[in-house]
Amino acid sequence: MIKKTNSSSPTKTLSQRTITVRGGLNSDDQHGAVIPKISLSTCYRFTEFAKPRAFDYGRKSTPNRYSVEKTIAELENGVDAILTNSGMSAIHLLSVALLSPNDLVIAPHDCYGGSYRLFDSLSQKGYFKAKFINQSDDAALEQILNLKPKLVLIETPSNPLLRVVDIQKIAKLAHQSGALVLVDNTFMTPILQSPFLLGADIIIHSCTKFLNGHSDLLAGVLVFREQSIAEQVLWWSNNIGTANSSFDAYLLQRGLRTLSVRVLAQQESALKIVNFLVRHPKIAAVHHPSLVSTPGHEIAKKQQKGFGSLLSFELKASIDKTAIFIEKLKIFTLAQSLGGTESLISHPTTMTHSGISAQARKAAGISDQLLRISVGLEDSDDLIADLEQALMAI
Ligand code: PLP
Repeated sequence: MIKKTNSSSPTKTLSQRTITVRGGLNSDDQHGAVIPKISLSTCYRFTEFAKPRAFDYGRKSTPNRYSVEKTIAELENGVDAILTNSGMSAIHLLSVALLSPNDLVIAPHDCYGGSYRLFDSLSQKGYFKAKFINQSDDAALEQILNLKPKLVLIETPSNPLLRVVDIQKIAKLAHQSGALVLVDNTFMTPILQSPFLLGADIIIHSCTKFLNGHSDLLAGVLVFREQSIAEQVLWWSNNIGTANSSFDAYLLQRGLRTLSVRVLAQQESALKIVNFLVRHPKIAAVHHPSLVSTPGHEIAKKQQKGFGSLLSFELKASIDKTAIFIEKLKIFTLAQSLGGTESLISHPTTMTHSGISAQARKAAGISDQLLRISVGLEDSDDLIADLEQALMAI
């Protein structure tokens, strides 16, 4: 939560790359440490009777969390941010803070499975109402907005087919119906997409992914455009206890320092891999916002500052051969996260989307031969050679 002053704080005129590199530096007045210290204390001494310092109790705020919140808020051009212990807890926190039993939340039919499950299960328990729709279907969107939702979640590009929807258009319609607009910016990061400039009111990130970038911590963050909403959510954050540890906040701050260079380098490699895959005779389809064939390509060109490093593709092969292809890979690791320095491959049918029926997967365009790649920082020639040798084996 951003309230206190910090002598090393960058200003909004700095580039995102500078903001991430310098976040929290030189904040130690005692010893002059350049890199911020990890403050493990859960409580902070009052200066005198009834006079707390900037921090009093760790569930509310700590120097390390505060520093990361400030950096991420500046990156997204927000006024405030609240760090949580996972992306899911950030979405849960916002739901609890903003929604009452008669309120309606609208989410994309192809949003992250965890978000779908959370909204669906909480609505079944009567905490609020939830509806899922295809947000690129203008008629369906207008019809559902007539129900006057309280919150509209937008997630673009989608997972695993990387379809892009128009944030500006949906936000405008949602605002006309009186809703708040929440954008999940996990896949794009602040480096490639600026939801506040497109009309979002609140941004959520799973910091577990690109923002940390090293696949060694879980965290989430909510970023706000309006202080009053941030205050409301902060009260609930302290009330529920959604904070993450100072150690994880410290690691996240360290990961953030290289965000810009990581995202740009990973994206460059992803474009080379897309280029290789679209020409390969054993590949049936490639999905990446850089391709005209991916729905929303024209929107991506205007709304994103790049096409990102996530892509998916379908093999011209049986599921058995798909398994052999994965086994033959030497660099890509079979795991279901994304956004780290290491390249990962996942098989939605048996991994991220195994919880939904085969029929629902088919309707969503997810075949048994679909594979998703999160391109890491390895040499792109090595990555392409790895894919090529595994393709030769099937
Ligand atoms: N949003 C998106 C787009 C995600 O991909 C994920 C996780 O994969 C989440 C939210 C949830 O984040 P976390 O795993 O940190 O709880």
